[in-house]
Amino acid sequence: MTSKINIHNEADVMVITVNNPPINAGSTEVRQGLLDAVHRFQNDPSALAAVIIGGGNTFIAGSDIKEFSQPLAEPHLPSVIAAIEDCPKPVVCALHGAALGGGFELALGCDARIALEGTVIGLPEVTLGIIPGAGGTQRLPRLVGIEKSIELICGGVRIQAQEALKLGIINKLVNEDLLGNAVTYARSLIGQKFRIRDIASPKADAASVSIASQKALKAGKNRPNIHLAIEMIGNAMTMPIDQGLATERDVFQTLRVGTEAKALRHQFFAERKLFKALGTNELKPKSLEKIAVIGAGTMGSGITIACLAAGYSVLMLDQNEAALEKGVKKVADFYDSRVTSGKLLANKAEAILKGFTFSTQWTEIASADLVIEAVFEDIQVKHAVFQKIEEYANSDALLASNTSYLNIDAIAEKTSNPSRIFGLHFFSPAQVMKLIEIVRCKATSPSVITAGLQFAKRLGKTPVISANAFGFIGNRIYAAYRRQCEFMLEEGASPEQIDQALEEYGFAMGPFAVADMSGLDIAWAMRKSLAASRNPGHRYVNIPDTLCLAGRFGRKTGLGYYQYPQGAKSGVVDPLVKQIIEEASASKGIVRRTFTAEEIVNRVLLAMMNEIAHLVSEKIVGDVTDCDVALVNGYGFPRWCGGPVFIAREMGKEKLNLELQELANVSGPGFVIANTGALFKPL
Ligand code: NAD
Repeated sequence: MTSKINIHNEADVMVITVNNPPINAGSTEVRQGLLDAVHRFQNDPSALAAVIIGGGNTFIAGSDIKEFSQPLAEPHLPSVIAAIEDCPKPVVCALHGAALGGGFELALGCDARIALEGTVIGLPEVTLGIIPGAGGTQRLPRLVGIEKSIELICGGVRIQAQEALKLGIINKLVNEDLLGNAVTYARSLIGQKFRIRDIASPKADAASVSIASQKALKAGKNRPNIHLAIEMIGNAMTMPIDQGLATERDVFQTLRVGTEAKALRHQFFAERKLFKALGTNELKPKSLEKIAVIGAGTMGSGITIACLAAGYSVLMLDQNEAALEKGVKKVADFYDSRVTSGKLLANKAEAILKGFTFSTQWTEIASADLVIEAVFEDIQVKHAVFQKIEEYANSDALLASNTSYLNIDAIAEKTSNPSRIFGLHFFSPAQVMKLIEIVRCKATSPSVITAGLQFAKRLGKTPVISANAFGFIGNRIYAAYRRQCEFMLEEGASPEQIDQALEEYGFAMGPFAVADMSGLDIAWAMRKSLAASRNPGHRYVNIPDTLCLAGRFGRKTGLGYYQYPQGAKSGVVDPLVKQIIEEASASKGIVRRTFTAEEIVNRVLLAMMNEIAHLVSEKIVGDVTDCDVALVNGYGFPRWCGGPVFIAREMGKEKLNLELQELANVSGPGFVIANTGALFKPL
């Protein structure tokens, strides 16, 4: 027996407890221990039934994902499940906390499942680029049917025990004494077996299966593992279970070692590392309960919604009565629509909004633990606002700016206590976007950054930590990406060709469609403000300026890189833009050439990798994988591709450096090849 499994007998029932804190993850040791325990149970004449339960706060909440990157050591989970099924005596699984992935598959291999109220159950494997590999696609359909299995497995859906009971996934739901109830239940099954494998193959109507499949494929971005999951679930109807199980296992093993699953594991670990550090952090950060948001505009209202949803009480302040009213309405409308659409119970919304107050009076911010400034992007306005904040806020409140581009050190320097000032850069819409950049300024105290991380965690956001530098991490990489796309425009590609190539690669939107959506005038204003410091010897594409000079500010003006006729859902190709681009190329004597989608994508990825390497050299980013986290969570980079750092590592240093040299040649003056070494340092 391994130390991860404990066994004791309660009269005629053997209790097998999994002890692998914190989440009882299924690992080689756990699987070996379970297998030994099942054999011992089978050979113990005094034990007539068994219960498998998790020690601590949860059942097996998933598998040890680190093991997925190597050849899986024996015994594999299907062997453990086979031993339970082959054992002539009944085994009951007792679930609490979470029973996810392999944990849930183990439960499906038992004769019955009993759960404590509040248990979460699901097969989230698809989110890691794989499919369930220990019978999930064969046993679940025998309980809930094909269509429901497609919905649950392909969506990686987590359901509550209540729903699992309704669906017949669990046999009994209890609200106390899980172990006691499980032992009694197991005893009631003595002398019987209830294996899911013995249930007849499910039947389904082809039309409804097709509807469920189409829905799952759309939600799953048409990824190969979703197609395969649907195929495997379908096998449950047509194949004998052992053939279905063997086929599923083969597919699981192939997907597990594929690039897509590797990329998703890379993202998973990169996203988790900052929160992991929180657990070991010795700093005692300030606990935050009351947040004041200054500015009731686009960002202020989004940040307010995000904070309220996380259970904070929030004061929204704006100097302008009308702007405040508009912001308040946005917050109220948001919660109204959540209730109307059935996503939130009315009493829950009411409780959340009880924590919401608003004012134009600065005295109101006195009780806030954290003040987040989201006023106009103007350094003079920010200075004035921070002066007010210092005057009225509690002296130990933390103070954050949501600026996109301004120098937060410059803001902090004018205050009396710069150690409490930092950046919290949310993305629009702030209640939706996962990314949050936590900006560490020169004087920011480390405990303030830790408090920021805890805040981000409670908001359900994915943070990265950036030094205070122009564009922080994300916008800096995005600028290099856009610049490279503009180079390609000038060299012969069209906006629609570039957008299409990148969207087909997996980006949520192409860069020119994004530019039209956010407004070309914003970037124009920025370019004008930086014009004096620009090196005249560097390559500069003036197509965006020409578009702005023609009043083409994007969607809001009906014209940008595309035209937007009334009622059009997306942009339409505009011959005038083609002409502007061709004239721009001609004016520089560039002979336009054709591009393949592959070349477009490759140049974009290389430009990103290079900029990331610069960010590391300049010490703007601490852990290079934060850049992948930022791009996936804030810039629509396809998660299943892992991010530029992951892709660079797959390419290898030598190939990357060669290709960067070629990119530098075509990009021309101003493109500086970075030292790419830092991209290859493992997490
Ligand atoms: P906005 O114009 O929509 O809102 C700004 C609000 O601040 C207005 O309601 C205004 O009345 C208020 N305000 C201005 N001066 C004030 C003062 N002295 N005291 C109190 N309130 C004042 O702007 P926004 O788009 O919400 O941007 C706010 C900040 O967030 C900017 O720094 C911007 O760079 C940053 N940001 C914006 C986005 C975005 O996509 N809009 C994304 C990330 C960060």
